Amino acid sequence: MQKTFTYPKFDFVKPPELTSGQPGHYPVVVVGAGPVGLSAAIDLANQGQDVLLIDNDDTVSIGSRGVCYAKRALEVLDRMGCGDKFVQKGVSWDVGRTFLREGEVFNFNLRPEPDHHRPGMINLQQYYLEEYLIERAKQLSDKLQMRFKSNVISVLPEGDKVTVRVETPDGPYSLTTDWLVVADGARSPIRTMLGLDIDGKIFMDRFLIADVVMKADFPSERWFWFDPPFHPNQSVLLHKQADNVWRIDFQLGWQADPEAEKKPEKVIPRIKAMLGDEREFELEWVSVYTFQCRRMNQFNHGRVLFVGDAAHQVSPFGARGANSGIQDSDNLAWKLKLVIDGKAPATLLDSYSEERGLAADENIMNSTRSTDFITPKSNTSKTFRNAVLELAANYPFARALVNSGRLSVPSWLATSSLNTPDTDEFTGNMIPGAPMADAPVQTASGEGWLLHQLGNRFQVLHYVEDAGTLDAAIAKSLGDLTVNGIAVEPIVVAKKGQASDGLKTLIDTKGCIAQRYDLQPGSTYLARPDQHVAARWRTLDAGKIKAAVARATANA
Ligand SMILES: Cc1cc2nc3c(=O)[nH]c(=O)nc-3n(C[C@H](O)[C@H](O)[C@H](O)COP(=O)(O)OP(=O)(O)OC[C@H]3O[C@@H](n4cnc5c(N)ncnc54)[C@H](O)[C@@H]3O)c2cc1C
Repeated sequence: MQKTFTYPKFDFVKPPELTSGQPGHYPVVVVGAGPVGLSAAIDLANQGQDVLLIDNDDTVSIGSRGVCYAKRALEVLDRMGCGDKFVQKGVSWDVGRTFLREGEVFNFNLRPEPDHHRPGMINLQQYYLEEYLIERAKQLSDKLQMRFKSNVISVLPEGDKVTVRVETPDGPYSLTTDWLVVADGARSPIRTMLGLDIDGKIFMDRFLIADVVMKADFPSERWFWFDPPFHPNQSVLLHKQADNVWRIDFQLGWQADPEAEKKPEKVIPRIKAMLGDEREFELEWVSVYTFQCRRMNQFNHGRVLFVGDAAHQVSPFGARGANSGIQDSDNLAWKLKLVIDGKAPATLLDSYSEERGLAADENIMNSTRSTDFITPKSNTSKTFRNAVLELAANYPFARALVNSGRLSVPSWLATSSLNTPDTDEFTGNMIPGAPMADAPVQTASGEGWLLHQLGNRFQVLHYVEDAGTLDAAIAKSLGDLTVNGIAVEPIVVAKKGQASDGLKTLIDTKGCIAQRYDLQPGSTYLARPDQHVAARWRTLDAGKIKAAVARATANA
């Protein structure tokens, strides 16, 4: 097998508990250094929170798992200070094409409008995702401690602390923590230790992953075939990843023998049938997977908080696994920080489970629909599916029914109890709960992007035509927006000018913010630390803003 990636090795370092014989105490412990646990630990450390991250392995994800990371996850990585590296290494793409046999029947563009910083999607091997997250974690080492080769073997929640027992190459030890974030993956040993249920269903199909290294001039697009001549009656998916590694997923059917299918003598002819005999390639990785769609009922259990695959799993069609897990940590980190700092009650964490539970339902629904279309379970569904595909080439109504994977998009938390419902008229998508849309801006230090100015704290965006003529009373109100010790950063958005008194001013260079947020002079938005809209009004009223912050932090 060809190797394009050198797996890093992370040493075991003897923790102080093993020297002193005393259990250490930590405000937050995260278990699992997969993409989600790493994101949670980084996000907390980024906000100044001491955090200990424990993982039982000594390297990053082995082999081929996650490939596609969506715009929203990239924006979260940006907020955590590390998005560029993923985008530079990954293969950016926006267009996906679906073929029936050899003819194209459907295509989509994940970024139908210009003037967003990040692409619709990047493809990047999961080992790079984790390696770069670990690099970011190391930059935060004054707040974030990592312990590898440390296997959590028992978890005991008692009152206001959790006792954790850890097995290491130098023997076991115990520690206690105020908050335990569980990111130990789909099998979640901790979920089992605590006797917690996870409900859902397993899908009766098998897929072969073949990662091949080759130089090919196919465009950087997602290609999905139903019933292609090179793999009749099944489906095939092709993605370009970094380092000229191409990921091919072949549907095999439930009856396929996974061990036999992984053998080069079975895999290579399948690839040659697809690529032609002449094209040179080397295999980098081969595996066979099945999948499940399921979720826990509740993601917070007292002081134990479940994130990522430990809390919910989806089929890979839709790339909603790591993407949604990163959004779990995006949603949880600021809430947990406020609770730890005594600025919000612990009930704020119920909203984590509420909001991300809804997102999990949405993800499971979408990935289940895709899976049902790709692998129909009855003759009737198969007949319907095939009819849709046949009609899609010529009839637009059928194209809308083709489902080879509705790819990960962020959840509009429209029903969240943290939102302040609209009392003024607005049009467009930026409703309370919406993930905030990006747009180009001019800042005091040059050209930039709206989302790079948002996040990690509550912020108020107030729109005027000319920031230089901002009303003095409004400027004063904007400068004094603290609720329960939670400071709200004021931002003036304007067509031109600079607000006085050092108020941060963003110039809406292309008018995209005004258009995307339906702004009129006076329009005011309250943004959450995770870049979701909390509330909006047509005029600025400090009392209403403070009430909305109180509501968004469970202080009301
Ligand atoms: C074939 C395939 C394709 C996929 N494609 C995509 C995609 O394109 N896009 C996408 O977003 N997602 C995709 N996914 C899903 C993605 O891989 C997962 O959602 C993601 O890895 C979940 O991250 P996690 O951090 O929650 O868990 P994991 O990545 O499973 O990490 C869990 C970590 O916890 C550690 N751990 C476990 N138990 C213990 C313990 N007792 N003590 C200490 N440490 C422990 C493990 O060693 C591991 O490091 C795909 C998955 C598969 C299988």
